[in-house]
Amino acid sequence: RERPDHLNRLLPEALARVPDNDALVHGDRRLTYRALDEQVGKVAAGLAACGVGAGDRVALILGNRIEFVVLVLATWRLGAVAVPLNTRDSRSGYEHALGDSGALVLVHEPDVRERLPDNAALPGLAHRICTTAFDRLLQHGGRREPAAVAEEDVAAILYTSGTTGRPKGAMLTHLGIIHSLMHFTVCMGLEPGERSLITVPLSHVTGLVALMGTCLHAAGTLIIQSEFKARAFLELAARERMTHTVLVPAMYNLCLLDPAFDRFDLSAWRIGGYGGAPMPEVTIGKLAERLPDLQLMNAYGATETSSPVTMMPPAETGVRGDSIGVALPCARVAIMDDDGREVARGQPGELWVAGPMVVPGYWNNREATAREFTGGFWRSGDIGSMDADGFVYVFDRKKDMINRGGYKVFTTEVENVMLAHPGVAEVAVIGTPCPVLGERVHAFVVPTGSGLDESALLDHCAAELSDYKVPEGVILRQEPLPRNPNGKVLKRALRDAFAAQRSGGHGTG
Ligand code: ATP
Repeated sequence: RERPDHLNRLLPEALARVPDNDALVHGDRRLTYRALDEQVGKVAAGLAACGVGAGDRVALILGNRIEFVVLVLATWRLGAVAVPLNTRDSRSGYEHALGDSGALVLVHEPDVRERLPDNAALPGLAHRICTTAFDRLLQHGGRREPAAVAEEDVAAILYTSGTTGRPKGAMLTHLGIIHSLMHFTVCMGLEPGERSLITVPLSHVTGLVALMGTCLHAAGTLIIQSEFKARAFLELAARERMTHTVLVPAMYNLCLLDPAFDRFDLSAWRIGGYGGAPMPEVTIGKLAERLPDLQLMNAYGATETSSPVTMMPPAETGVRGDSIGVALPCARVAIMDDDGREVARGQPGELWVAGPMVVPGYWNNREATAREFTGGFWRSGDIGSMDADGFVYVFDRKKDMINRGGYKVFTTEVENVMLAHPGVAEVAVIGTPCPVLGERVHAFVVPTGSGLDESALLDHCAAELSDYKVPEGVILRQEPLPRNPNGKVLKRALRDAFAAQRSGGHGTG
């Protein structure tokens, strides 16, 4: 049953190449590949002593820290399935994910304890181990050698954020993840000695695959930041001579807004991946100006695709800055109409994706699997197009697109224009209900400083956009936009805030 393409190859291969290089760095802690391999062997023995075997689920509610990486690798070593959950979820979110996945063991941070469901709600969960008792897992003696794993076996279940209902557990296979790692390593030219910085959550597909897995695959050093803060990120990147990272676009923006940006020596930084949300072209321009040697690379993907499906050849970033690139080898992107027929090149439609990186479905959820996977394709819910050269563009998510009296407004386009205004630090455009037009366009704006002139901002929009796309109202906020743990703007929360404001009689626009 054993075949070569599985994730238990990662550590032995890196160990053979660079045994004494640092594999992981977090604060003052450093672990060489040799030490990491030892820890993984011991923790695998500890998990096995808890009864974990092939196919069992091990849930992790951990922030970005060394133990996260050790536990995932130990879980894979046993042929078991890692179920990383984000640390900011609610009790009912944890109850759903832990119950649905049928986790046997949970390892968690101390401060989530009060949000964990009680034993009665999770009869299958045999062991809860707090990180303060992590040593328990190391004390079983012996070490475990890798179990036999097949490439189609599930390696991780990642729950989607659930913006469209109950979170669904995407089943990422060894093969799907390996594909992603190979694409990232090859397209980004990563090699031993690479110094990758992770600041996005390890529990999300970008953190787990694009950074953790890819860095191990390249036999690089993974420098861990617990949580993104622009100044601390810049300090760490300079101090550790970061060469590579992947961020969501908002993080690049927040770095550029730091007045101390130019004080940091980022000359080692070669590759800056981004994805997860559209990147404003103005941000690409500013980065090219401040860091001319940095290769920016757009990667489009989702939890359901184990990470990237398209990537942007770096030479094209400055030329076709608004494209997400071309389909990767082995991936197929088709632009479909509402009836599942491919549209002509240049025409808008929904992005459907096929290939070995696409997950086989959702854990324990046949209904959602049947709805969102058709004929080998995953239906992304994103609206976009493909040009004659095969370059793909994403305009908006289907559910965020605004229909203003029959005119379609892609929120990303409006946001890009608004963000080019110097007074705008963050912006999110939403559709708001209107009895006459169906929806109207409103924008939430976080200004860069005081004294943003709203009418000047709207004049700027009117100069760049068709009239029906110009927001009819601007809501200024001093606090940052609400985002999920992966840095994505929670537009639903903004729509709720707008409705609450309206019903409270403080209408704007
Ligand atoms: P849910 O699907 O439950 O709402 P989510 O949005 O957090 O959760 P992810 O799998 O994290 O789901 O994100 C995938 C989505 O992110 C894509 O469908 C797309 O909308 C967006 N996205 C990813 N990469 C890019 C990119 N390079 N450019 C534009 N949008 C992107």
